[in-house]
Amino acid sequence: MIAVIFGPPGAGKGTQGDNITRMFGLPRVATGDMLRAEVEKGSALGREVEPIMTAGRLAPDDLVVRVIEERLRQTDAARGVLLDGFPRTVAQAEALDRMLRAGGRAVDLVLVLEVPREVLIERLLRRAEAEGRADDTPETIGRRLEVYGQQTAPVLDWYAQHGARVERVDGVGTIEVVRDRIRDAFATVGGDGRKLAS
Ligand code: ADP
Repeated sequence: MIAVIFGPPGAGKGTQGDNITRMFGLPRVATGDMLRAEVEKGSALGREVEPIMTAGRLAPDDLVVRVIEERLRQTDAARGVLLDGFPRTVAQAEALDRMLRAGGRAVDLVLVLEVPREVLIERLLRRAEAEGRADDTPETIGRRLEVYGQQTAPVLDWYAQHGARVERVDGVGTIEVVRDRIRDAFATVGGDGRKLAS
């Protein structure tokens, strides 16, 4: 299964992505985490994306697509993945589609975590205090939400137009309550709450 967990910054993609990995055994592939790891390493790629990430803007499509392409070639991705933070633009969605189609695959489920803006801002500010992530400052949070609305939200319409299964889940509630809603959403595409493969 190729699933995408989709939603604005602060929606809970990372937390619930880990829950999905535990419930269904799908490896979580998170571009934000992968890019932060490159920044941490101080690689050429990391040096290129660091100022972009700190500003709350998007890394160039071709760079992110290359990172994903390489990741999807690894053996653990063969039986499926959960994509988190990718695709974030229509161009990335198109590139992913081409990549998957070459292997006879497609996106099976786009799971959208819906959370109102005020709650997102509250959560991101709380995370700023707890984790000190460079892009969780008040100014950058505003920019990231704006970028989401302008460049990322259109990806959902693109998936709807291209026949992907889009399931919307209310992302407000305890971690467990939201997890159970997600489990139900997976059930609609044939997941039954058990691991798909082990
Ligand atoms: P969040 O969802 O909380 O904004 P992420 O960890 O997913 O955080 O991403 C952090 C930053 O990494 C983004 O603001 C962006 O700069 C960069 N990034 C992550 N994924 C992508 C992507 N698919 N395309 C472009 N930039 C990306």
